[in-house]
This record gives sequence, C-alpha cells and structure tokens, in this order.
Amino acid sequence: GGPRQCRRLEAEAARAVLGAADTLLFDCDGVLWRGEAAVGGAAATLGRLAAAGKRLCYVTNNSSRTRVAYTEKLRRLGFPPAEPRHIFGSAFCAARYLRQALPPGAAAYVLGSPALAAELEAVGIPHLGPGPAALPGPAPADWAQAPLDPAVRAVLVGFDEHFSYAKLCQALRYLLRGGSDCLLVGTNRDHRLPLEGGTGIPGTGCLVKAVETAAQREAFIVGKPNRYMFDCVVSEFNIDPARTIMVGDRLDTDILMGNSCGLTTLLTLTGVTTLDEVKGQEGGSALHSSIQDLLDHLVRCLVFCNCWHQRC
Ligand code: PLP
Ligand code: CA
Repeated sequence: GGPRQCRRLEAEAARAVLGAADTLLFDCDGVLWRGEAAVGGAAATLGRLAAAGKRLCYVTNNSSRTRVAYTEKLRRLGFPPAEPRHIFGSAFCAARYLRQALPPGAAAYVLGSPALAAELEAVGIPHLGPGPAALPGPAPADWAQAPLDPAVRAVLVGFDEHFSYAKLCQALRYLLRGGSDCLLVGTNRDHRLPLEGGTGIPGTGCLVKAVETAAQREAFIVGKPNRYMFDCVVSEFNIDPARTIMVGDRLDTDILMGNSCGLTTLLTLTGVTTLDEVKGQEGGSALHSSIQDLLDHLVRCLVFCNCWHQRC
C-alpha cells in the first residue's frame, strides 16, 4: 500500500542498503550462473559479501539437485564455500515439508529426479519412483490395474525428465484412492526454463499442472513465490526480514516472494526479467542492479523501485 515511486539511488544510499543487511538470499539460475557458466562478476561479488561478514544463503526452485550437489557447484564455479545448511533447493524443502506433513512411515509417490529421491531418503521418507513406471499391460486401460502401495500418502511432483502418461495415471490413482488423505505437493511452478538465445524448455509447472488437471485439485507449492522456502531459511537461521535482501532475476518468483516476506529485494537483470518489464509492471517493489555493478563498488548504478507506475 501507500504511494509508490521509482527513484535512482546514489551509490552511497545503495551501500547503506547493503550495510543494513546481515543476510542475502540468492536465487541461483539467472543470478549466479546460467546453466554451467557463472554470471560475470557473481563469484567475486559473493566473495566480497562473505568477506564483509554477510550470511549468504541460496534459494532455488530447481529440484534436480541435492543440497550437497549445490555446495559442489558453488565451489566448482569459484563461489565462496557454502555448507549444505545454507542451500534451500526445492528438492530439500519439499522433503522437509513432507517430513512435517506426513505421519511416520507414510510414503510418497514421486515424479521427479534422483536428487529429489535422495532428499526424501535423507529425511527418512520412503518413496516409489522415480524410475520407469511399471506397466502391467500394453494399453492405458490396463495401467489402472497396476498395484498401489498402501503406504503412499503423498504425490510429489518435481522436475522429471522421464515424466510419462503411465506415471500420470499412477499419480491420479493414488490421489483418487487417498482423497484428502493423500497430499499433492509440487516443488515449483516455473513454466519454462530459459536457455541461451531466447529459447527454453518446459518447466516443472507443466508437470504439476498435468497432475492437478487429472486430479482436479490444487497442489501445495514449495517453491518461490510461496513463502515456504523463506520459512525454511528462518527455521535454520536467526533471520530478521528487515536485515535480509532477496536477490533474484524474476519478478514473478524471487521478487514476489521477497516482497511478501518483508525483505528488501534486488533484481539483477541477468536472467528472465528485463528492465522494460520492470517498468511495465504494477505493484511490488524491488531494487535492481546488475551483479557486475554490485561488484564495482557494491553498487554503481542501483535503481530503487517502489513501484513501476512511474518512470525510473
Ligand atoms: N527448475 C529447474 C528444473 C531448473 O533447471 C531451473 C534452472 O536451471 C529452475 C527450476 C530455476 O531455478 P532458480 O530458482 O535457481 O532460478
Ligand atoms: Ca532464477
């Protein structure tokens, strides 16, 4: 609420924003790296922030890696050392959610990656899938005869390269059998994963939508823009939202989550959302800067946007 305006911050004021923060939460893809390549200046920027005593955490919607795998990727790309407890990937957070929500011994039917399965195992949740779906006959109608595990009390949907009609059938059967006793959880709703050259591939949101459409019910979504991942950070560290900055490349996930959790938000313009989109958008607030600018003097050209009604 309140009047909204955009104004450009001078470097000094920008330094004050960073000075007031003790914790920065970093989105990963589009901010720290694109695929396997580090974003220019990102590793050096984080190195400086770590040297200045800031707590750095990583908040990613990508469910295809474990916490440990992210610590290795950060190391490989030259980022400051991180421990697994600093990593909040949607695979880990989904496992944590199910650990809290499911009764002891209950199992999950998983459409997802081996990493998602590994995070479930790490918190002691038995699971079926991922892997090839068992096909008890040649025709889809036969698949409705496949055995169902009596322990399954949740269907979990993450990024699944081997998503199939057979798995969709099995997911629906668990949801129909369990009704409201069977949870439906999605890691995230990203509709597309951008690739270089303006192209992209379908994101996990497409798979979640398929299951929701079949079951005619809405999934609980772990990832940004929902606040669950921020709640996971809060449960692990002593976090003051007023002293926490969310750094991201997307208005509709990173910045929206940051704003709804009362964080300062910083849009890097190195990924999905462009400055033109920021100016065309209504509502919300964000600081924006390139990560290279952050490096130069921890902010050379930072624009403060309380709103996108007015021109910056
Ligand atoms: N989901 C998948 C499967 C991905 O590969 C990616 C990016 O690589 C994402 C989601 C988005 O991740 P982030 O939240 O770090 O931008
Ligand atoms: Ca991103």
